[in-house]
Amino acid sequence: MVKSSKGIGLFLWWMVCVLATLTTRAQEVHWPKNRKAAIVLTYDDALRSQLKNAIPQLEHAGLKATFFLTSDIDSTTIPSWRKLAKEGYELGNHTLYHPCLAIEDNPAKSEKYTAYHMIREIEVMDRWLFAIDGKTTRTFAYPCAETFAGGRDYVDSLRKFHVVKYARIGGDSSNVITDFKNMDTLRVPSYGLDGGETGEKLIAFVKNVEKTGGLGVIMIHGVGGDYITISTEAHQQLMDYLHQHKKEIWVATFQQALDEVYRQVKRPKINIASTAQTH
Ligand SMILES: [Zn+2]
Repeated sequence: MVKSSKGIGLFLWWMVCVLATLTTRAQEVHWPKNRKAAIVLTYDDALRSQLKNAIPQLEHAGLKATFFLTSDIDSTTIPSWRKLAKEGYELGNHTLYHPCLAIEDNPAKSEKYTAYHMIREIEVMDRWLFAIDGKTTRTFAYPCAETFAGGRDYVDSLRKFHVVKYARIGGDSSNVITDFKNMDTLRVPSYGLDGGETGEKLIAFVKNVEKTGGLGVIMIHGVGGDYITISTEAHQQLMDYLHQHKKEIWVATFQQALDEVYRQVKRPKINIASTAQTH
């Protein structure tokens, strides 16, 4: 009697372990045209070196990308951004004034913001971008990859107001996304470049993503100019690799990639109280 109840106990424990493994296992995503992995190239801050150096290389390689713009777009560059949007590049929202913590070399201090002000600013930038490309669905990148306004995390407020569909945070080269079920759509991690990366280093990241069959999002700033810069040579090497492996790697915009993930993965698990109010 004692023996059998112990046996039942062990069996139940085994069942619990099996169920726990099954429920926490990452859900696989099947990328379009049977490709093995997906890469998203994102370029921040509306930098001139992106228009001058990155765009011609992207166009030559036949690759599309996402540009997270701020109000640093003007009458000389807006026609270019509009043309790029027509060609299939994505224009993303990176706020108007790029508010960050005062320790950053940045004019707008996020400590002086409230969540409301931050979201209002994102909403105004959405409208500005609508005037450029006519799109009503927008993705977002947190300025300086920080999610704080007035010292408080504003991601849940952003979720509540529906001003953006998906949002990118920062991170390092370990950010190869494979656990799509548990990924928060408003905290999509990326590989934020520090500047000075070689082509080999960028390709090594892509190869890691290929190995896992997951998604890799790269955050780029200057290309052959501006700041947090990678050389045009390193960028070209990355373009060449992605072009040569286009049958294995799907290079998509941020929105395209996330749309594909959430077409296949029913609903990400987001452990926040406000989720219930948003849908
Ligand atoms: Zn930025």
